[in-house]
Amino acid sequence: MDEFEFINSIKQTSYKQPSLIKGIGDDAAVFNPGSYDVVTAVDTFVDQIHFSKKTMNPFHIGYKVLAANMSDMAAMGAEPKFYLVSIVIPDSVSDNTLVGIYAGMREIARDFDVDLIGGDTVSGGELMISVTMIGYVKKDGARYRHTAAAGDLVFVTGTVGDAAAGLHLLQTGETCEDSRYFIKRHQMPYPRIDFSKLVRNVERVSLNDVSDGIASELHEIAVASGVTITIDDSLIPTHASFAQFTAEQQHAWKYFGGEDFELLGTIPEADYPQLVESCIAANIQVTKIGRVAYNEDSHGHVYVVQAGERVRLKGKGYTHRSV
Ligand code: ADP
Ligand code: MG
Repeated sequence: MDEFEFINSIKQTSYKQPSLIKGIGDDAAVFNPGSYDVVTAVDTFVDQIHFSKKTMNPFHIGYKVLAANMSDMAAMGAEPKFYLVSIVIPDSVSDNTLVGIYAGMREIARDFDVDLIGGDTVSGGELMISVTMIGYVKKDGARYRHTAAAGDLVFVTGTVGDAAAGLHLLQTGETCEDSRYFIKRHQMPYPRIDFSKLVRNVERVSLNDVSDGIASELHEIAVASGVTITIDDSLIPTHASFAQFTAEQQHAWKYFGGEDFELLGTIPEADYPQLVESCIAANIQVTKIGRVAYNEDSHGHVYVVQAGERVRLKGKGYTHRSV
């Protein structure tokens, strides 16, 4: 495929979003957000760092890079609308690989009515995919991590540690109870757009998506909001089959594993029962795991209560470079 054929092959024949004016085919795309605030995010995946052939096929790569971006939209309270893809293609990468990557992106984009409206295609030494996502949120309705306040409850959706367990199974070749479930959680994470929509009517909620592990995400909220967060180890939701792993693995994966793409946040206690009710109606798991406090000596700190003891949680999730 030459570049022209390639672009033609990935171009959507029709678009879902009514606010799109011009998609692929001119020098740039055009859309009209009307009265919404526009939310943007970009995520870049580099071969061998973010994925390897051993753990992800091309379809998974495409699916996951888009899922990661949509998860950022969810964490901002925004609905994803459009995406653009910048791709660096080495000679060694086959047409089939490219087709697979775009098929993965298309699959999850279709689930959420998100349109591919542009991108850039260049040759280079290493496979790299960078996705820019554009979403809309009601004017002044974005959710920020700096809004947690003393007395709030801390919650998380779904279960955590699953994606790290899946990565471990893929890397070691081990199998176990519910292997396929854990592996799917690593290869095809599902962004929590549904939950993000549910909290739309709550006046104040801080949100962060679990990309680097809950320890890291909790710290980000605690630091940004200048508060102290204390969570209870026994409340952290894990999958029914998670207990088969060693205590060390469970601890590492649920706190520092990351890439579960669940949503973690804080909400005033008075608003929580209503949230739980809407979650039950929407069949979304949400769990209270702790509480926010203000303490002059410990703002930005996160603590875990485990076996009756309160210990400080370190913030290290998966980071690419220590700065
Ligand atoms: P230009 O030279 O004007 O930048 P291009 O040939 O790069 O045009 O792109 C033509 C059209 O195809 C544009 O709408 C661009 O956004 C889109 N496009 C190019 N590469 C990609 C890609 N990898 N994924 C999606 N759209 C792409
Ligand atoms: Mg171009």
